[in-house]
Amino acid sequence: MPIDREVMEALREMGEPELRRVMMLAKARLERSGVVFPDAGPEVRVRKQWVRCGKASCTRCPHGPYWYAYWTEDGRRRSRYLGKMEDIPEEADRQAGAERA
Ligand SMILES: [Zn+2]
Repeated sequence: MPIDREVMEALREMGEPELRRVMMLAKARLERSGVVFPDAGPEVRVRKQWVRCGKASCTRCPHGPYWYAYWTEDGRRRSRYLGKMEDIPEEADRQAGAERA
């Protein structure tokens, strides 16, 4: 079935944020019908951690939040320190919460 011309024109006029949204919607629909995307790369989860420095005199514990990205690569659990951030996107925060639960 050919793609509707109006749909094609709408796609041409879209900027990057809209195109990404359409792509994610299309991917989600395909995945729901059983299509697997092996080249999508590892699923990266972002988690925030508060760290205690252990100094008895410290009045600012815990420190942070410090952000870490976690993913699985070649069967091994990998992580990368992302730094201290207050303004991580809400989406990542929700994922971090879901991982804790
Ligand atoms: Zn401290």
